[in-house]
Amino acid sequence: QQPLIPGFSCMPSFKDLDLSAAMQANLAQLGFSKPTDIQARALPHCLAGRDVIAMAQTGSGKTAAFGIGLIESLKPKLFAVQGLVMCPTRELADQVAKALREMARAQENIKILTLCGGVSIGPQIGSLAHGAHIIVGTPGRIADHLRKGTLDLNRLTTLVLDEADRMLDMGFQDAMEEILGYTPKQRQTLMFSATWPESIRKLSAGFQQNPVDVRAEAQSANADIRELFYEIPAPERTRAIVSLLSEHQPASCLVFCSMKQQCDELAAELGAQGFSALALHGDLEQRERDSVLVRFANQSCQVLVATDVAARGLDIKALPLVINAEPARDPEVHTHRVGRTGRAGEAGLAVTLCSPAQGHKINRLETERGSQVTWGDTEILLSVPPQPVAPAMKTLCIAAGRKEKLRPGDVLGALTGEAGLNGKSVGKIDLFDFQCFVAVDAGQAKRAVKRLEDGKVKGRKLRVRLV
Ligand code: AMP
Repeated sequence: QQPLIPGFSCMPSFKDLDLSAAMQANLAQLGFSKPTDIQARALPHCLAGRDVIAMAQTGSGKTAAFGIGLIESLKPKLFAVQGLVMCPTRELADQVAKALREMARAQENIKILTLCGGVSIGPQIGSLAHGAHIIVGTPGRIADHLRKGTLDLNRLTTLVLDEADRMLDMGFQDAMEEILGYTPKQRQTLMFSATWPESIRKLSAGFQQNPVDVRAEAQSANADIRELFYEIPAPERTRAIVSLLSEHQPASCLVFCSMKQQCDELAAELGAQGFSALALHGDLEQRERDSVLVRFANQSCQVLVATDVAARGLDIKALPLVINAEPARDPEVHTHRVGRTGRAGEAGLAVTLCSPAQGHKINRLETERGSQVTWGDTEILLSVPPQPVAPAMKTLCIAAGRKEKLRPGDVLGALTGEAGLNGKSVGKIDLFDFQCFVAVDAGQAKRAVKRLEDGKVKGRKLRVRLV
């Protein structure tokens, strides 16, 4: 984490930043009296022309964090694309373009165009011919224009990847790389992402030069997390977990265990009692690991039982419930585990089970925190009858992937086309090199398999199975 701005010990105000008078006046008009946390941290570097990688959620003010710098650096008299913002969805692109137009309205004639798929390309070509300063769009359509030669990025100075993690989730990596090939080497690249998985760090290493790493305040610090502790004898542990799942019925729940074998055993026990549970630990092969993570993230598996190490790269937002099957090794690990819940402003519950012999670990936690933990009533907890809920989604696995040039849009099209499924019953689509996972409403799973098997994608029959 870099210092905010050299010479400033506290958060800078907009006046401390070297903004044009027009921009200052406009921000005041928009009611932006002081920068948000992410703006205060990112804007100085954006304005200085540095590459920035910022961890920021929707609602944090991230659009202005890159938008202000982008607009300030434009040369309005130069009628060429100087800024390009890539977004994962059309909705986000529209929202970003609208926000940028508001921020740019005090400047001379700045033209901002959106280029997204799902609408016909002809009118976009016409608009591009009239020139634009900033393009906001989705990777697939931007790449289409570059291939056609209808979009020229030779004068580009700033490239923004908004919600980069979602763009990767949606299988846009290849399109993003293709687009990069059309941009000048000398450019500023700003990357915004809500989460911080390994894939994002790799993307940054490929796209950015010596980026400044900015993150808003640690999320667990201000998130709404309730913590509860129960004293549970070791043999009752599984029963206590079943009770917690039955009582709270979370869409997703992460259970931490200290050992691999424990993960497998607990997942199997929960499975035997009708819960959908999977284990995640270091002994899994990459393929299995992918499949487990996909099913947990797309909500076709409710409970993930994991070791600390395995859960490290886990990229799941807003878990409603986290359970420690046993107290963590030390207070720091405990804080990490608990920080998995209540993300992005959603309320969360973290429950820690502790055998009578493990009480000293909780004492240490209390000393570290300088406050006492809250204990729940063990008897009441154990009296909750088991009540498993079936997951809302099921996962289909298609035996084809990126290497066969399969795209999420192809799969969605095949499922929802004429007399097909409603688009709303299709969930997350995860594309890998040789396989693709699709989440569908549990009630529609059989129909979805049949549709994919009967239909063709890119002229070929697909092999599909229900995971
Ligand atoms: P975003 O995270 O970019 O989607 O922004 C969330 C909302 O915060 C938008 O409605 C912005 O208009 C608003 N906003 C952004 N920056 C500020 C600021 N400095 N002060 C007040 N509101 C802001």
